[in-house]
Amino acid sequence: MRIIIFGPPGAGKGTQAKLISEEYGIPHLSTGEIFRSAIKNGTPLGKEVKSILDAGDLVPDEKVVGLVEEELKDERYGDGYILDGFPRTVPQAEAFDDILDKKGKTLDAFLQLEVPQHELVDRILTRGEGRSDDTPEKIKNRLAVYRQETEPVLNYYKKQDVVKHIDGVGSIEEIFGRIKKTLNNI
Ligand code: AMP
Repeated sequence: MRIIIFGPPGAGKGTQAKLISEEYGIPHLSTGEIFRSAIKNGTPLGKEVKSILDAGDLVPDEKVVGLVEEELKDERYGDGYILDGFPRTVPQAEAFDDILDKKGKTLDAFLQLEVPQHELVDRILTRGEGRSDDTPEKIKNRLAVYRQETEPVLNYYKKQDVVKHIDGVGSIEEIFGRIKKTLNNI
């Protein structure tokens, strides 16, 4: 199964993606985690993207697309995967479609986690992950970037008839229960 999990910062994408990965035995590919780990390890990629992540801005499309394309060549992604944090712009979504086309594959589901705006900032501040981009100012920027650059990705996938709306309010288990119900029906 090839799945995208989508939603604003603070919606719980990472948490749910991990659960989906365990339940369905498919790898979890998080572009944000790749960047954070590169920064932690002081790699050339980490040095290149550190200030971008710190500001809550987006890494350039070519960079992210190249990275995902390379990563997906690994055979462990052969039976499917859950993408978290990608695609985050319409050009990234178009590039991802090209990657799938070249492999003769299709997307099974685009899970849209719906969480009211007012809950997002609170959730990020209370999740206490200690991320350098989890300060009120940076969260504000990440939400603005989301609305401007990332929300249009939803309309892009609506045209493909793969969008599944998931109510993202409730406990982790409740939300995961909704996701399972949806995925077991496709
Ligand atoms: P996330 O863990 O998905 O919230 O991502 C953390 C940060 O990594 C974002 O605020 C961006 O700076 C960067 N990032 C992650 N995924 C992407 C992407 N697909 N395109 C551009 N930047 C990204």
